[in-house]
Amino acid sequence: MVSTRFAPSPTGLLHIGGARTALFNYLYAKRNGGRFLLRFEDTDRERSSSLFEEAILSDLQWLGIVPDEKASRQTERGARYAEVLERIRANGFAYPCFCPHGEDPNPRRAQADVCRFLPQEERLRKIASEEPFCVRFAVPRGCSRISFHDRLRGELSVKISSIEDFVLLRSDGSPTYLFAVVADDHDFNVTHVIRGEEHLPNTPKQELIYRALGWEAPEWTHIPMVLDSQRHKLSKRSGAISVASYREDGWTSEALVSYMATLSWAGAPADRLSDAAALAERFDIGDVSLDSPAHDPQRMSHFGKMAMRKLDPDALLREYEALFPQPESHGWDLDSDRAALISELIPGCACKKEIETAIREVFIFPPSPEEVEPADKAWLDELGRELASVAPEEWNSRDLKNTLKDFQKKRELKGKTVYHALRIKLTGTGHGIPIALFMGCLGKKKALERLDAADGL
Ligand code: GLU
Repeated sequence: MVSTRFAPSPTGLLHIGGARTALFNYLYAKRNGGRFLLRFEDTDRERSSSLFEEAILSDLQWLGIVPDEKASRQTERGARYAEVLERIRANGFAYPCFCPHGEDPNPRRAQADVCRFLPQEERLRKIASEEPFCVRFAVPRGCSRISFHDRLRGELSVKISSIEDFVLLRSDGSPTYLFAVVADDHDFNVTHVIRGEEHLPNTPKQELIYRALGWEAPEWTHIPMVLDSQRHKLSKRSGAISVASYREDGWTSEALVSYMATLSWAGAPADRLSDAAALAERFDIGDVSLDSPAHDPQRMSHFGKMAMRKLDPDALLREYEALFPQPESHGWDLDSDRAALISELIPGCACKKEIETAIREVFIFPPSPEEVEPADKAWLDELGRELASVAPEEWNSRDLKNTLKDFQKKRELKGKTVYHALRIKLTGTGHGIPIALFMGCLGKKKALERLDAADGL
């Protein structure tokens, strides 16, 4: 059975890059009727936190990338690592290293060889006298290259002489990432490792560990890293925002998942929203491109906007009612005008927070409004007086639109001229949502105040 896994370190929140690795693992497993597992690589005890574990799990669940089993934790598997290490040692591929260079990941060979070829008696004496040591992998010297297969890159091979005797167990007794991952993936029957290409240099070392244990290695797929606009690895500093904060801002999980799927997967639908389960039906790992994709906030917004268009303006109105001005006199159907205004705003918004901000902004009168043309001032006064005489129950977008139309015809003015000047007077800018709708929601008193016609009330 196909098994994949996502193996984050719980040292921070889930970001787009990590979530996309999780997504591809999930899609591959589900496409092949397999399992998707979650493992917390929490051996860095100082930086790991159960709060991050909870947050990562909750974000994954929200995204629909749901693990099939309870998450495992490396810190709970110390006894098993000791067993596996013993097996590597018994097979002749591990030795204690007492050197002062300690845990240097790349010691010079001559230096490491002192410990690698230390007489057994000497070794036992040092251990008995409690000299600190780490355990290193004894990289085989008899062959010249180690090769492995990467699903996207084909056959790869590395010169063995370029691999130093790397550390398996630190002197504090904790396993290194290189070692623990092999024991975990083997024990949890992981058949396919799909991870970021930054792990490519680790793969030959992990292959060596598999071989030393006589275990079969999983199939490797290294997916390209997501870059920022400067083509650096997407990081918190370069604007990678956590899934949690997108959630908080009211993005939908479908929008995020649909966007993440497009990061390297050529077959991902570009113009429609899909959830993880729907994407899994058509995922093909062979369609993953080797080019590093750049995080594209605009494309992400495109999916966000599609998702916002699916929301119900009436439901949004119930949520955001308090953001609207409270008109002193209510027209015949204030709610439908307000819902209509929300509908006008939705297409420009990628998440609910943007809708909220847009509603707030609609009613903020800029401190230095644009000036209306002097030529328009005369008829604006007259229009102000006419609007002042509109009955409270007719202060709604439909009736106001008719009032404006009648006025424009009577004064033989172009519609554009009237709406533009009125908009500047009322909102301070020359563009925005339909002006009659705006007036309906703003209320008669505030509208007349902005038109300097308040004394007509
Ligand atoms: N913990 C590693 C990371 O967060 C993943 C290791 C792996 O996938 O093999 O990058």
